[in-house]
Amino acid sequence: MNYCSQCAQAVDFRIPEGDTLPRHICDHCGTIHYINPKIIVGCLAEWEGQVLICKRAIEPRHGLWTLPAGFMEREETAAEGAARETMEEAQATVRDPSLYAVLDVPQISQLYLIYRGTLVDGAHHPGPESLETKLVHPADIPWESLAFPTMQVTLQHYVDTAGADLTSTGPLTKTIRRPARKPR
Ligand SMILES: [Zn+2]
Repeated sequence: MNYCSQCAQAVDFRIPEGDTLPRHICDHCGTIHYINPKIIVGCLAEWEGQVLICKRAIEPRHGLWTLPAGFMEREETAAEGAARETMEEAQATVRDPSLYAVLDVPQISQLYLIYRGTLVDGAHHPGPESLETKLVHPADIPWESLAFPTMQVTLQHYVDTAGADLTSTGPLTKTIRRPARKPR
């Protein structure tokens, strides 16, 4: 952030009095701009032993495969958001989504909440953000063409647990960090 969204003056970046982290501060109107992590909600939607995946029609990662997911909207629950993204990206209705994975991606200040649910009828069609949608058996997951590490981790967990009911063990929780750059 370079300019104040309230008054359009240039902002400073420093630790406000009584705070512990630097913030964007507007000395013109006094607004302190708090920029917090984004929440991404998504769905691992099943149908007869297969998982619904979408080929992205948008950047980033155009042309790669993902589970339906996107930014959580205001005034919705996370589960509602996961179902909404599934409808938007795959024109598919998911029933009874339950929390499946909580994935922290601190380097880009994102938190993923992935829900698992069952399609009501197996129907799916690409929405405007998808080039293609399909149901795949675990053996046919396109590992080399997945859009995001979060989706790889989620699908790997699904394969590792053979699609078991994990109600008693709770969701997968994991922190995903980008590999460190090799020293020169
Ligand atoms: Zn201002």
